[in-house]
Parts: sequence; structure tokens; C-alpha cells
Amino acid sequence: MPGVVNGDANGSSEPRTHSPSQRYLSTRGEDVDLSFEEAVLKGLASDGGLFIPEHIPTATEWQSWKDLSFPDLALEVLSLYISTAEIPRDDLKGIIDRSYSTFRHPETTPLRHLHDNLYLLELFHGPTFAFKDVALQFLGNLFEYFLVRKNEGKTGADRHHLTVVGATSGDTGSAAIYGLRGKKDVSVFILHPKGRVSPIQEAQMTTVLDANVHNLAVTGTFDDCQDIVKALFADPETNKALNLGAVNSINWARILAQIVYYFHAYFSLTKSAADFNIGDKARFVVPTGNFGDILAGYFAHRMGLPVEKLVVATNENDILDRFWKTGKYEKQPAHGPEAEGGLEVDGVKAHEDGVKETLSPAMDILVSSNFERLLWFLAYEFAATAGMDDEWNKKQAGQEVSTWLKQLKTSGGFGPVYRDVHESAKRDFESERVSDSQTVDTIKEYFNKIDYVLDPHSAVGVAAAARSLSRSSTTPHISLSTAHPAKFAGAVELALKSEAGFDFENKVLPTEFVGLESKERRVTDVENSWQKVGEIVQKQVEEELKGQR
Ligand SMILES: *Cc1c(COP(=O)(O)O)cnc(C)c1O
Repeated sequence: MPGVVNGDANGSSEPRTHSPSQRYLSTRGEDVDLSFEEAVLKGLASDGGLFIPEHIPTATEWQSWKDLSFPDLALEVLSLYISTAEIPRDDLKGIIDRSYSTFRHPETTPLRHLHDNLYLLELFHGPTFAFKDVALQFLGNLFEYFLVRKNEGKTGADRHHLTVVGATSGDTGSAAIYGLRGKKDVSVFILHPKGRVSPIQEAQMTTVLDANVHNLAVTGTFDDCQDIVKALFADPETNKALNLGAVNSINWARILAQIVYYFHAYFSLTKSAADFNIGDKARFVVPTGNFGDILAGYFAHRMGLPVEKLVVATNENDILDRFWKTGKYEKQPAHGPEAEGGLEVDGVKAHEDGVKETLSPAMDILVSSNFERLLWFLAYEFAATAGMDDEWNKKQAGQEVSTWLKQLKTSGGFGPVYRDVHESAKRDFESERVSDSQTVDTIKEYFNKIDYVLDPHSAVGVAAAARSLSRSSTTPHISLSTAHPAKFAGAVELALKSEAGFDFENKVLPTEFVGLESKERRVTDVENSWQKVGEIVQKQVEEELKGQR
């Protein structure tokens, strides 16, 4: 069993000491002074906020990391956020090495030159062919490490057991399942809308036969699945019976793991672009939904990485693009196309709640949960101009964020934010909105131009990068590629079916996917009822525990 515990081997309950630089607080200001472990295991703060480090560490020696392998670089970056008193360095190295040993590419996240000043950061070489593996492989091993440590010397009913419950429209579910399969003391339940996830994604999830993995196919939509998960987390009975854990992108450990590839890509750029040297500035372009991926870039930048701009690329679910253009954060624009055209706009289906179904479904969101973390740092920076002490600044930031989020809940939006807050957001970020037809055109263009097949999410990024390049052509652009095209076969076929020389089976499909759909599956059909799902979860966890004890 991995995860040997140092420093606490006798199971003593002596408090670990923490250096003050690695404590965590909630964006809404109520929860303060948590350890990394508490922040990761709790997931969401009790005041409804998200956990952030008390301050962003400066990486004073980041230039010396230039030639490190991806796992060794990860060790350096993560060490600045996790005190060795909490996780000894050798243990952290073990967790990281296990997490990235599952990646197929020797560089873990290779950088590919597309043309001129445009580079693509391929983040899809993990077990499920999506960028979420980078974070979820790490989170799975981290959960395991914490549980092994808590359970040392404990047997039977004394053992801590974590029950992870999540809803998915495809990507998160498969990455979470591959991150947690076979992990001791963890059960994972992933709800997906029956018959409404892509065939490849459904096969990826349901062909994992580990005893601790449970796929539940809900008769309903993705929103129904999410509502069931929320109801389970909110139900005191379920919470008492099961120790629920979350793997969605609000978990701080996911953001943390993603900081690493910004540094890695930057160093790769210094090696592949002749006239790009350490210290020169690059732009990063990020296909964005819940704002987790690009937030990691913001942390990298604040740690010292020379970044000219981070470019937010949204699809037609463009709440973030509208924030950067107007300073207002609103679920529905006051005079947007929806207000005139009803539910059907440009052939894009809109749900009643306003989320549009696009060709890049992993970015189909109404609000971005991790944006709250950026808001805190913007509010904190603004508070600091008042010249009070740091404690006051933090309190102010928490109050400001609470007020904004309350307005979002009660009136569907807030803003415009103070001019200075909007200005600091614009200092570090730009934004672009990319439509479905522009996404299709971009997939076509790159297939014809350089014989490269982009997945629709990555195409949103590349389309945004092209616009950014037209403004800033001398700066190298690194556009993040978040999924392998075979995961989104429908959109790729739609774009390329009539292009000469296109052959999905031979050009796109990885060997790992061949035959996947005919493999043995395990999945339980469930009604659209959170009580029924709760019963099933409890029963299966009981059975699993019986098997172990
Ligand atoms: C999750 C996901 C995104 C969006 O990432 P966020 O961190 O939510 O902004 C983009 N592309 C793909 C393929 C994804 O799975």
C-alpha cells in the first residue's frame, strides 16, 4: 500500500505544526486557518465559499526549474502550497510520481508548435484523454494518502471511509472514476443522464469494473443529476450515514495540480522557440467553463511566471466574456440575443435556465464556480489600497465576495463592479467568445492547413488565440488543448465529414478506444429521485464495507 506515513507513525494525536504560509481560508470569510488536508477533504467551506491559500507564494527560484521533468516540477510547485509538516516531501513525491506514471506521453503535457507564434499545449495524454486527468489522478492519490494516514492501526467500523458522489455530462465522471478506481476506503458514485452522454464517454465510465466504482444511469437530464447530488449533500441523514466527498472543480487540490503545466509549457517554449528566452512574456489562451483551468494560470502568473495576458475563451455560454467586456456578472444579459430570439438562437438549443447546448459541452455553464476565487483576489487587492492592515483587507474581501454572490443568487447577477476591480481584472486577462460555427470553421481550418484534428473545446481556444494574435502578433501564444478529438466524435465528424482525406477511424481514434464499446459494463439504472439514489448509495457502501471488513 502506498502512502507510508512519516512523522506520525505511532498514530499519536499530536498536532502537526504548520508554517503560516500554507493555511487556507474561505472566499466568504467565515472559515479561516484551515490546513491543506482540511481544505481538500472538506471541498466546500461551511459558509458556502471556496478555499484559497492565505497568500500566493512567490516562486523566487522558478528559473532554476527549467530542466525538471513534469513530476519533479510538480513537486517544487506543490511544495510551496503544502507544508512539509503536513505532507513530508518524500511522501508528496510518491503521490505525484504515482499520479503522472499513468500518462502516455514522456513529457506528460507536451507542447506542439502549430504555426508562427501559436503553440498548443496537449493536456489529454492521461487515462481518459481529457485535461481533467492532470488534476484527478493527483486528487485520487491524495485522498488515498490522507485516508491511509487516518486509518493507520484502525480496523472495522473505526476506519474512515469517504463516499464520493458526483454528477457528470461526460468528462468529469470518467476522469474521477479513473482517479479513484481501486482506492482503499473510498467509494465513488457517478451519476450520468441515461442515454445522454456520448457513447465513448459512457463506455469509458461503465467498463471500469473495480468494486469501489458505481455508475448510476439516471432517467433524466444532467441538471437532474446535479440536483440529486446537491440534495444528497444537503441532507443531514445522508451526511450522517456517509462521509461525502466532492471531486468537482471547486476542490482546491484540482486547481493546485493544474498550476504545474503553465510552468512546464513555458519552459518547453524556451526550448522550442529559438528567440524566446527565460523572462520573456507569453500569452496563454484557455477554453473556459468553470474557470478552474485558467485560474491555475493566474496563480502561476502571480507566483512569478512571465505572462502577458491570460485569454479567457468561452463558447456561447459567455457570462465570463460579458464580465470582461462590461464589468457585470449576470446569468442573462439584459439585452442579449435570448431576450429577442426566445429559446432557439442560431440553432443552439437553450435550456429554460439559460444554459445553451453547444458543440463544446464541457464548457456549457451558466455561472463559473471558480470565478469566485478570482473575485476574492480582486477584492483583496482593492481593499489593500485603503492602507489598513492585512487582516482588515482579508475581511473586506470576504465581505465583498459574500455580497456579490448573494446578489447573484437573489437577482441573477451583480455589477458593474468598481472600476478599479474591473481594471485589475483586465490587467491580467482578456476574453473572447467563440460561436459554434466559428468552432467548426476552426476545426476545418487546422485540418486543412496542418493536418491536425482539434477537439471542439480546443478549437474554441485556438479561434480565440487567432484573434489575440492579431492584436499581439510578436508574443508567443500557448493555447490549451483540453481533450482528445476522439472524445467528441460527433462535433469532429460534423466539421470534417466532407473534407478530403478525413478518416476518423485511422486519423483520430486512439487504439485504446478500439473495442471499448463492446467490453463488459457495470451500471445501475436509477429513477430521477434523490431519495432512491440515496438508498442505493447507502446500500452499496454497506456491502462494500462488509466485503472489506
Ligand atoms: C472541464 C473542461 C473544460 C473547462 O475547464 P474549466 O476548468 O471548467 O474552465 C474545457 N474543456 C474540456 C474538454 C473540459 O473537460
